[in-house]
Amino acid sequence: MSTHASIEKAGEKAGERRASRVTGALEALGRASLRMTPQRIAIVRAFVDDDGHPTAQQIFERLHRAMPTTSFATVYNTLAALERAGSCRTLRIAGATDDGTARFDPNVAPHDHAVCDRCGAVRDVPAPAQGEPAAPLDDGFEVRSVERVYRGLCERCRKGAHRRPPSRAR
Ligand SMILES: [Zn+2]
Ligand SMILES: [Zn+2]
Repeated sequence: MSTHASIEKAGEKAGERRASRVTGALEALGRASLRMTPQRIAIVRAFVDDDGHPTAQQIFERLHRAMPTTSFATVYNTLAALERAGSCRTLRIAGATDDGTARFDPNVAPHDHAVCDRCGAVRDVPAPAQGEPAAPLDDGFEVRSVERVYRGLCERCRKGAHRRPPSRAR
């Protein structure tokens, strides 16, 4: 698959990052006292490879074909355990194609997101130096993190790859 090919091309660094994500996530499951089943290991492997911010449903559908014994509940519970253990983040981004369903992000380093208004694709954007929020909050509100969402059109949508020609039957 092209996803795997491009991950391979991304080189050693990505390979190392991936390996450490898999290890970290499996350790997190251990800390959460979740039994290490083949299903859970498959979920972790599918998830850390996916920088497209999938929903639990998307991971479930992908795995269920290869591993029909994997239930949606197992997928969801495994991802929730990873989040509690700090091995993944959840995002809720209302977009053109979803209603703010939780998306799971294996990248726990500070970063921002760009969302395509047409196809709903979410990609990572390196965050500018973390610092003060744009506006000072001086009413006692404690800022723990700042998240920015860039909205627009992804390259594929901009080039029309996702757009079907208008159907003019006559
Ligand atoms: Zn798009
Ligand atoms: Zn992300």
